[in-house]
Amino acid sequence: MTTNGEQITIDDQGKPVVPANPAVPFIEGDGTGPDIWRATRIAIDAAVTAAYGAERRIAWLEIYAGEKSFNMDGQWLPDETLEKIKTYKVAIKGPLTTPVGKGIRSINVGLRQELDLYACVRPVKYISGIPSPVVRPMDVDMIVFRENTEDVYAGLEWEAESDTAKKFIALVAAEEGRDIRPDSGIGLKPISRTGTRRLVKMAIDYALEHGKESVTLVHKGNIMKFTEGAFRKWGYELAAEYGDKLITEDRLWEEFDGQAPEGKVVVKDRIADAMFQQILLRPAEYEVLAMPNLNGDYMSDALAAMVGGLGMAPGANIGAGYALFEATHGTAPKYADLDKVNPGSLILSGAMMLDYMGWLEAADILRNSLVVTISQKTVTYDLARQMEGATEVKCSEFAQAMVKNMP
Ligand code: NAP
Repeated sequence: MTTNGEQITIDDQGKPVVPANPAVPFIEGDGTGPDIWRATRIAIDAAVTAAYGAERRIAWLEIYAGEKSFNMDGQWLPDETLEKIKTYKVAIKGPLTTPVGKGIRSINVGLRQELDLYACVRPVKYISGIPSPVVRPMDVDMIVFRENTEDVYAGLEWEAESDTAKKFIALVAAEEGRDIRPDSGIGLKPISRTGTRRLVKMAIDYALEHGKESVTLVHKGNIMKFTEGAFRKWGYELAAEYGDKLITEDRLWEEFDGQAPEGKVVVKDRIADAMFQQILLRPAEYEVLAMPNLNGDYMSDALAAMVGGLGMAPGANIGAGYALFEATHGTAPKYADLDKVNPGSLILSGAMMLDYMGWLEAADILRNSLVVTISQKTVTYDLARQMEGATEVKCSEFAQAMVKNMP
């Protein structure tokens, strides 16, 4: 694990400072991970060369997690892997097997917690020609900022009949006079002001930087007042601190008859169940979404399905100091080493990584070449089986076709 590349650093605004030859660690992943990683690496390198010639180049640095790591030294997530990501700040990974069995935590959850990657960022945009179950998938162009560390995903759960579950049940009876059935499992749902503010700030900053029209807080605050309702309240409190750059939806109707003044981002909120209808019925009205962990998990997959499924959905886990870009699907083990599956999700995650690094020209070339290749109906099996007149290619051949479509 040596590299000729230089370290990316993070400035005091939290932005990455990227040298011309940054070292970027990668975890190739399990199952189909090596196939899609090889294809992704070819496509990213070609896009960087097409954009900058010999002036910039990523020095890839392999780090280990998952089955490959376990087979080497019995560790699913070695400390050295975490240390390398901490040193180099930006990394990319293929999917990892979640070991089933007691006492082994999910590697993905481990990475998020250890690196405090507090936002899961999932852009969802329709790519022309991809089969979709909805009538107007072209109206979908949203980016989900999902809180990644709190909520019912914090891992604070106790089995029914356990000592801790019994203690909670007794505490609630004694302090609140409320009965919980004695054979209940107990889970906690922590949602903090701190966790909410930093997540919503990332979403608002994104909207301002990218000229988006709105940010929507998605919550179930009508039922869970002090967790999801507080998420909404703290989100609006933070928005108020931005002064006149933002305007709430209430003010928009009270003072501007529903028409946002030029250059202002509208902050609104929707109850989660209603929002699931809105993304289907009125997707064009939503651009940037911020939400707690569980809502975000459900909604980002529902949105991905609307534009053609997880095979093409990119994702990133971003914190104050580190960013980890990843395919959003799993390892699809039945296709391992067949050079068959769609590398689109990891390639688009690579484009997000280039955006994050400020290498926007390379990111554009990467995305455009993918769009052009799909428009030529040169696609992997998953899309070929749904498209008429498609040419089915292998995973590696898809990357090669993308490279041919780069300038
Ligand atoms: P999966 O690996 O996502 O695969 C489910 C199905 O989705 C595949 O059989 C395939 O459908 C389709 N698919 C997935 N990736 C594809 C790709 N790149 N191109 C085309 N089609 C693709 O889900 P799973 O079988 O439930 O999970 C397998 C393992 O992955 C588990 O160990 C799980 O814990 C892990 N996992 C890891 C992550 C992660 O690392 N981020 C995320 C989710 C799951 P068809 O059979 O219809 O072709």
